[in-house]
Amino acid sequence: MTERDDLAPEDAFALVGDETRARIIRVLNEERDGKGAPPVLSFSELYDRFDEVGSSQFNYHLQKLVGHFVERTEDGYRVRPEGMALYRTLRGGTFRRLESTAPIDVGLNCYCCGAAVTATYEDGVLTVQCPDCDHLYLTSTRIPSRSVDDEEALLSRLDQFDRHKLLAFNRGVCPTCAHAIESRFVPAAEAPFPHTEERDLYLHRSCERCGNVDYVSVGKSLLEHPAVVSFLREHGTDPRERFQWEFEFAMTDRFTTVRSRDPWTVAIELTRDGETLELIVDEEGSVRERTRSTG
Ligand SMILES: [Zn+2]
Ligand SMILES: [Zn+2]
Repeated sequence: MTERDDLAPEDAFALVGDETRARIIRVLNEERDGKGAPPVLSFSELYDRFDEVGSSQFNYHLQKLVGHFVERTEDGYRVRPEGMALYRTLRGGTFRRLESTAPIDVGLNCYCCGAAVTATYEDGVLTVQCPDCDHLYLTSTRIPSRSVDDEEALLSRLDQFDRHKLLAFNRGVCPTCAHAIESRFVPAAEAPFPHTEERDLYLHRSCERCGNVDYVSVGKSLLEHPAVVSFLREHGTDPRERFQWEFEFAMTDRFTTVRSRDPWTVAIELTRDGETLELIVDEEGSVRERTRSTG
């Protein structure tokens, strides 16, 4: 075993910022073919793929990776989990130029002004927004998608991916690095988005370790909450089968009321067929009380 030092982000970039080293990581991963455990390649098996590099120069680069991205065993060299994660990131298209779409009609009339809401996918970022009043429905983090031919399928995949991140944040975990996150309420005007009067506040979640940040309305944060899911299903709608922008309570703050600001207590009320579900959310964004009533 090689002793492994903690690697600062800039040192990690420097370590793989060389073509031969990047290729070593790729070759060790490709041998795995996306399945099974990573194989062990002897020095000569590995070096066979690097004809044009002198063997001492090749060995120099290989040894730089050992301990961080590559592991040396008795039988040879094997990619470490860090090397697999790096390879997935590069293969997934994080650093590729991605295709863009023309505005796609999402089939929704803006809750604020009635105009047809559109989605665009550009440089890996999905933005669903009203072209007339600028009300923002969704802006994703960069999600690389290589195929944009089927627009409905693209929207569906990006919506699901966005909600998968939402669930991690809801459970107090950074979806990028699994560190614990911090939550707090912020007035909507302080968020780095176009502000319309249908939004009052966001739950702001941030990860101190990797710098990930998220702004979510109280309604959207509850879209996957079991009480909301079962209430909506009992009234004939499964929120998991609909796009998130089809839910007005998640896309505006019309059904959200601030009960107190110190500490923060926020209520949301959903009404379907004469029945109302009320949820009370605390300053961490957790549901503290729920009531269902009719009439
Ligand atoms: Zn609008
Ligand atoms: Zn993080």
